[in-house]
Parts: sequence; structure tokens; C-alpha cells
Amino acid sequence: MSNVIFKFSYGLYVLTAKDGDKDNGCIINTAMQATADPFKVAITLNKQNYTHEMIEKTGKFTVSFLSEDADFELFKAFGFRSGRDVNKFDDFKDCKRGENGIYYVTKGTNAMVSVDVEQTLDIGTHTIFVGKVTQEMDLTDVPSCTYNYYQTSIKPKPAAVNVEGEGDENVGEKWVCSICNYVYDPAKGDPEHGIPAGTKFEDIPEDWVCPICKHGKEVFKKME
Ligand code: FE
Repeated sequence: MSNVIFKFSYGLYVLTAKDGDKDNGCIINTAMQATADPFKVAITLNKQNYTHEMIEKTGKFTVSFLSEDADFELFKAFGFRSGRDVNKFDDFKDCKRGENGIYYVTKGTNAMVSVDVEQTLDIGTHTIFVGKVTQEMDLTDVPSCTYNYYQTSIKPKPAAVNVEGEGDENVGEKWVCSICNYVYDPAKGDPEHGIPAGTKFEDIPEDWVCPICKHGKEVFKKME
């Protein structure tokens, strides 16, 4: 794939839904105003996503607009793990329920809309949901966080993540996760997940996942 796809400008949003007692949310970059009057919003969502299942079933969702003061912890809370495995709201307190009962995020966000789905379009791997805005709230004047702003100013730089100095050259090279920039340092290993200090990246079992974003070894790149 060429770089053209990255030249679209994207925002970043926390998409939330609620099915019975179960709350969930994820980060999306595709949300748009479809029409202004009446106010309709469209989102594109991967079918693999647990939130997709919930929206399909309930016909309701809420979009919280991430702003430039959002910190990386917020992206970690919603972006790098699945609601099938954890309840993302268990340890997340910066949220309130909107009129539709669905959580919206109150910190690191500048607006929210709640939507009742009117139409869905199956586009293969994803679904486009379009619907009428039932509630809208302007939260702060902080500019919206674009995908580009996230990449340049919020996502930690590999050097910043690993501030504790150089590893031992004898145990191999550091590898960086291309999703979240976590650095695997063989001198330290990942003892919390069964990888003792001194383990070369190449020798880590294939089912090991990034301790931050839970993606597999295949997304890691050797550090220069
Ligand atoms: Fe990662």
C-alpha cells in the first residue's frame, strides 16, 4: 500500500456503546458529520471490534472527540486492548453517562455526540453506521486531536519510553513495538510476563505479546 491513505486527515475519537450491564469503548479515526440539518453522523467500524457487536444489537453509540490535551494513558485505556478480555471502564473514572445511558469521556475530550443508528452499510471488513444525533455537548475549547497530532505529540517516542539507559550489548538488540512504541530491552526482559532478563528478542516465545498494547511479536521492529 502506498502512503496516500495517510494523507487523508483524520481525527481521533472514543466510540462507546452499552449493551445491558456491559459498557465498552474503542478508539476510532473515522467519524464525520454526514449532514448538519438534521445533524447526522457517520462512523466506520471494524466488524472484529466488540463495540461493533454492541452497536449492531442496540442501534446506539456515543462519540467523544479527543482533544490535544488527551494523554497517552487514555489511548492505552481504549485503544490497545479488547473489551472482550477486560472491562475497560473498571479502572476508568473520567466519564459520565449521557442521556442514552452510554458513557462519554470527560477528560482529554472537547465534545461528544450520541447517535441513534438509522442506516448501516456493509463494506466488507467494516460497517458504516449513520444516524441522527440525539444529544450533543461542547466540552472544552482545546483543539481536536488529529491523527497526525497523536503521532507527533502524544505517542511516546521510543527514546522517551526507555529512559533508563543502554542495555547490555551482549544480550542482543532492543526491539520497538510499531503500535505503541514500547521498547523490549533484552537486558531487562519482561519478567512480569515470564520473560527473564537476558532473553534475546528472537528467543521470546511466539505467543508473547506486547505488555502495553497486546499485539504480537510480528509488529516489533529492531531498533536502529
Ligand atoms: Fe505495543
